[in-house]
Amino acid sequence: MEINLAQLKGSCECGRNHAITTKTIIMEPGAINRILDVTEALEIKSMGCIICDTNTKDFAEAVALKISANLYIHKPVIVLQADGLEASDKCVQEAEAEISPYVSWLAAVGSGTVHTITRFLANKMKIPFVSVPTAAATDGFAGTVNTMSWNGYIKTFTGVAPLAVFADNDIFLNAPYRLTAAGISETLSKYMSLADWKCGNIFLNEPFCERVYELIKTAVDSVFENLPAIHAGDAEACETLMLSLLMAGISMQMWGDSRPVSGGERQLVQFWDMCVVNKKPNALQGEKIGVGLLTALRHCEKALQIANPERKMLGYEGMPQSVMKSKFGPMYESVLKENQPDPLKSVTPEIMLEKFPELQKIISSIPSARKLRPHMQAAGCMTKMEDIGLDSGIIPDSLMLAPFVRRRFTVMRVLKLLKI
Ligand SMILES: [Zn+2]
Repeated sequence: MEINLAQLKGSCECGRNHAITTKTIIMEPGAINRILDVTEALEIKSMGCIICDTNTKDFAEAVALKISANLYIHKPVIVLQADGLEASDKCVQEAEAEISPYVSWLAAVGSGTVHTITRFLANKMKIPFVSVPTAAATDGFAGTVNTMSWNGYIKTFTGVAPLAVFADNDIFLNAPYRLTAAGISETLSKYMSLADWKCGNIFLNEPFCERVYELIKTAVDSVFENLPAIHAGDAEACETLMLSLLMAGISMQMWGDSRPVSGGERQLVQFWDMCVVNKKPNALQGEKIGVGLLTALRHCEKALQIANPERKMLGYEGMPQSVMKSKFGPMYESVLKENQPDPLKSVTPEIMLEKFPELQKIISSIPSARKLRPHMQAAGCMTKMEDIGLDSGIIPDSLMLAPFVRRRFTVMRVLKLLKI
């Protein structure tokens, strides 16, 4: 099955002309058998190089056999050590050291981290890459954005989207279920990021697009409805999950950045990954995002209890710089710079009171933590701080500081104006 991307592209009522770099997405059993024909049709031929890790090496070798004539003969496959592999400057440098400067295109065969490293290097080397996802675990396959640990600080880089994606059912349907569950959490987290995007639209008049919003919302709803079937390993339901993750990436391409699919839930994860008030979490990215989602939702839902917002208004005195300095330590200057200008300064008490009913409407339009959690648990997703190696005692600090890891406006951020 080839996913029709043409209907999503082009000029839109939002005023933008939505571009999609990815030329084709093929999702079917045996999709890797079509790599040679499709890549040649896309004019990516000789001197390619496959990047994988020790967990996905067998798949990479199977792909290499299909396209051996078009690979760089001296080093056709680079195998990264899966143990300790992370999206970091160190791991990028290790991969980069293995790649010949003569390589003219890359193929990522693996899950999220392999894709992040490949996307970063393809962008740096100004060469195309193609994607072979080996598990429905992340939205990073067709995306454009790389979130990486760079000198300890979690930074977001613009990367390059794959020219083609080959999602082979024979591969991703047989991935360990833990990866699939992480993909479920990642998908459901879009409920929060979509709410955050709308929040930015109503308070700061940020650009917004119904077409992109509906694309993601429909994909997430279909995964939510299919959770028991995905958990049971139903092939069609698992395809729905993979498709939703791919569409999250496509929506990043359409919008030009990750605004629609990354909000407060992910800021919490970025904060935990910075190890400011905690030890390094011990979990997959999607697992952390699932816990971030429930933590963010529980906090945001408190706004629904407020009947008289004028009684809850706090005078905004700017960012809590002394606390930030003591907690973020050597990263404080970077965090401060990221937050300039402070987006909350433009939300006056009058604006907050005027927009508050709309804010409540946004929050109540997404599933609550109480509704989501049992479904996530039944589907094998991680839902508690302890599940990801964190102490729930850090939640107050996390809610206070995580909104500052990125300047991106969120429901969590605007709630700083209220006593809740
Ligand atoms: Zn649009």
